[in-house]
This record gives sequence, C-alpha cells and structure tokens, in this order.
Amino acid sequence: MSVVKRNVVIAGGGSAGWMAAAMLSRLLGAQFSITLIESSEIATVGVGEATIPPIRTFNQVLGINEADFLRATGGTIKLAIEFNGWGSPASNYLHAFGGIGREQGFASFYHYWHRARAEGLTDNREDDFWQYSLNAHAARAGRFTPLEQIPNTPLPGLQYAYHFDAGRYAQLLKRYCQTAGVHHMDATIDRVMLDADSGDINALQLTSGQQLAGDFFIDCTGARSLLLGKALGVGFTDYAEWLPCNRAIALPSERLNVVPPYTRATAHGAGWSWQIPLTHRTGNGIVYSAQNLSDDEALNTLQQQLTGPAVAEPNLIRFKVGRRVKQWHKNCVALGLASGFLEPLESTSLHLVQSAVTRLVKMFPAPTCYASQAEAFNRHAQTEFESVRDFIILHYHLNGRQEPMWRDCQRMAIPQALAQRIALFKASGQVHTAADELFTEPAWQQVMLGQGVRPESYHTLADGLSQQQLGDFMVHLKTIYARTVKQLPEHEAYLATLNTHL
Ligand SMILES: Cc1cc2nc3c(=O)[nH]c(=O)nc-3n(C[C@H](O)[C@H](O)[C@H](O)COP(=O)(O)OP(=O)(O)OC[C@H]3O[C@@H](n4cnc5c(N)ncnc54)[C@H](O)[C@@H]3O)c2cc1C
Repeated sequence: MSVVKRNVVIAGGGSAGWMAAAMLSRLLGAQFSITLIESSEIATVGVGEATIPPIRTFNQVLGINEADFLRATGGTIKLAIEFNGWGSPASNYLHAFGGIGREQGFASFYHYWHRARAEGLTDNREDDFWQYSLNAHAARAGRFTPLEQIPNTPLPGLQYAYHFDAGRYAQLLKRYCQTAGVHHMDATIDRVMLDADSGDINALQLTSGQQLAGDFFIDCTGARSLLLGKALGVGFTDYAEWLPCNRAIALPSERLNVVPPYTRATAHGAGWSWQIPLTHRTGNGIVYSAQNLSDDEALNTLQQQLTGPAVAEPNLIRFKVGRRVKQWHKNCVALGLASGFLEPLESTSLHLVQSAVTRLVKMFPAPTCYASQAEAFNRHAQTEFESVRDFIILHYHLNGRQEPMWRDCQRMAIPQALAQRIALFKASGQVHTAADELFTEPAWQQVMLGQGVRPESYHTLADGLSQQQLGDFMVHLKTIYARTVKQLPEHEAYLATLNTHL
C-alpha cells in the first residue's frame, strides 16, 4: 500500500531555511515531501560566520566531509573567542572551548587552582587559569590539528568549531538538498492562508497567483517572521532592557597574512566589534547601540580597526534582540531570525537553528496532536534561549568600562537566575549548570574571571590533597599542555594540507 507523503513547506532560504531542509531531508525525507520556497527579490541577512563546536555534529549527521566543507566555505578552525577591552579597556581574556585542567569528581578544577594560587603554588600572572586549557594554549600559539585526546594521558584534546562564509554554507546545503530531493521554488509569498476553523496555516499565496499548500510549515523568513509572527500573531519578547545594542555594520576585508584559530570580540565605547578570519577574506563588523553611537561614528570606528583593505561595501543591519513568545504555534515552527535573535557575541544563532531543528526532528508531529508537542518544544526552546541570553548579558553586566552605555549595563537589574549565578561564583567559586545547558562550567568561569570576578573561597574538596600533591598536580598539568601544544602544526599549515587556500 502506498502512503501519501505529508507536505512540509519551509519558507525562506537563508542559513536557517537550508539547514532545516538539509536535516529534515536527511532524516525524514522518506516520510515527507519537503519544499523550500525563497525569494530572489528578498535578500538574506548575509552575515553569520562564527560557530560553536556542535556544528560539527550537524555536518557529521548530514554526512558532509570536513575538508570538503572547509574548502567550500573558506572555513578556518575556531578554538576560542578573544575578548578585548571588556573587563577594562586594557583587559584581554579568552573564552576557550573545552575543559580547563583535569576535572576532579565533585569539585571542578577551578577549586584546586584557586587553592594553588592562594598558596603560591602556581604563577601569579593574570591569565594563569588559562595555562591549564589546551585550547587556550593552541589558540595563542596559532596551532591546530584534530586531537581527540592528549596522547598517553586521560586528558581530552582540542574542542573546535569553525569560522566560515555563511552564504557559501547555504549554497553548499542547497546543493545537498537538491540531490536529496527537496523541491525548490523561487517565488515571493504574498499572503498566508489560514483555516477558518482550526486557525492552522493551509497554504502560502504567492505573488504569481499560485498557492502552495502544506501540512506543516517552517517559518525561516528572517526577522519579518511572516508566518509565525505576522500571520499567526505570535508576539515578541524584547530583551533591549539588558542588551542595548540594536545595529550592526558588516565590512569584510582582505584575508589576514596569518589566520588565527579564534574570533576576536573587541569592546568599544558603545558596543563591540568582531573579527572573523576566513581563508579568502576577513569578516569584520561592529555591533552598537544606536542611542549611543551614530551610524557614521560606528563605521568610522570599524574602518579604523580593519587590518587590510575592505573588499565590499558596508552592510548596515538593524536588529531587535528578543524572541517570539512561542517558537511553535498551530502547524508552524519558526527557526532562525523568524524565531528571535541574540547578538552574535558568543556565535550562537546558527547553533540555535541547529538545536531547534534537532528538537523538531525528535518531536516531529503526528497529524493530530500538535498541542502537547508544541508545548514541550516551546518549553525547551525558552529555557535554552534564556540561558544563552543570560550568558551574553553576563559580558555586558560585568564590564569594567566608564562610557555611559557600559555604566548603565553595570547598574542594570539583571535576570534573577543570572544574578544568583554571579553571586554564587563570587562567594564560593561554584557554577551550577543544568545537564543540557549549552555553556558549561568552564565557559562561565572564564568569562567571570576574565571580567574581574574574584571568588572569595573554594570548595573544601580541594583541601583533600596535601600541598605537595597539589603543587605537583599543577606543575604536571602545565607541563603536559605546554609540551602538547609545541607538537601541534601551525593552523595555517593544517589548513594548507586540506587545500583550503585553493
Ligand atoms: C550582525 C549579525 C551578525 C551575525 N553573526 C553571526 C555569527 O557569527 N554566528 C552565527 O551563528 N550567527 C550569526 N548571525 C545570525 C545569522 O546570520 C542568522 O541567524 C542566520 O543567517 C539565519 O538567518 P535566517 O535564515 O533566519 O534569515 P535570513 O538570512 O534573513 O533569510 C530569510 C529568507 O526568507 C526569504 N523570504 C523573506 N520574505 C519572503 C517572502 N515574502 N517570500 C519568499 N521568501 C521570503 C528570503 O528570501 C531569505 O531567503 C548574525 C546575525 C547578525 C544580524
């Protein structure tokens, strides 16, 4: 007996649309007919170049070979983000991926380090904590090779993500989808047709007069949120009270001579700027609060930071930080900018698309029971989004700068969960994270230490070692990290072996 396939319609062909189409066709292509509609008359947002490590799993599930991917997207390796000028204008620290030191059961390495520092058993340098991170060592040294584990030790190797050209990535996924049987339409949606009884979406009315019917719709129409926001009337929760930036200018420049394996995020008087190294160009941009900086001043600041000639015109982007109150309503799920936006400080937007697509596959709706699935989906989505939001607010709130926007951020009332987290770390050096939280304990520790929090005490478990044992433990770890990083090839040399410069 042949079963009629239900129709899934994806509206929008930016990164979100193509990521969704690729993953759904890979995992559910046998059961569903998938159509992606995009309009060549409506541009994609066209930025989005730095990612976090789970993107590797996304590509692996799709069966995309890493070297092919890096070649196709001008990609490079990302081991960390370097934050300049956040704690104070002269400060500098890394948020390196992966763990720090060797975890010790119930108390994290941080507590052992805290005690060792208090007792003079480790260096007194400002960045000493990062001397116990292989990722931080490798990032600073500009070295990389895939390394699961440090040989002959129980210590994990390098955790990495990518920098890449998001436009090229969308094209790669588009080619992937074409061979996977995704139907593609270049057309403009004029209206969204709703069922008078159920309120579900029936079809998309196109400007050509044609109607595109579907059973389930995925809104990837960008910040317009044509389906979920406009047609289904799902409201937007604004986060501007905590995240003051609302504009960005992107301005790519010529490739750097030596491509570092990390992103740079440099704070300035009313926001921050990014530098993302690719093999064919450098992605640059400035994120700022329009209340505190004019567009001309922002462009001027950005231009002064360029490390080479610009290779395109500046692209001004206005945005609103926040999220749709529900990400799934009726027979529609929104992904990407259609579902909300957090500024790219921790490179999380593409990850949130990935995570929502994964959740959608796990909860893919049976024809008649949307409501309870939607409720569970929305609960997870909200928790995830708010935890990422709080991590970004942390950078703003703990700044040590004197300009008006930054002073306001120091004084602002922050979400309660975040306030409790900071207070707990200040008092005890502890960070409690949920099992499925995106940012791990070492990530929170790095940002809080990097931006000047100095915990008053450490966990008593760290007193379980004698002073001699603790001292030996610290020296041993430091020696292993320093020795390992010396044996890694240069990041550039690694990329050259993949022919990514072609
Ligand atoms: C300044 C900035 C920097 C960023 N940096 C990063 C980063 O470093 N890392 C990261 O992970 N993310 C980053 N992002 C986020 C990332 O760019 C987006 O999340 C991602 O590109 C997803 O965009 P999208 O597909 O949702 O929307 P869009 O790219 O806006 O695509 C919308 C699509 O909808 C289609 N469409 C719209 N209206 C219609 C219509 N009426 N009919 C038919 N089609 C229509 C358009 O044609 C287009 O194909 C950044 C975002 C900004 C603003």
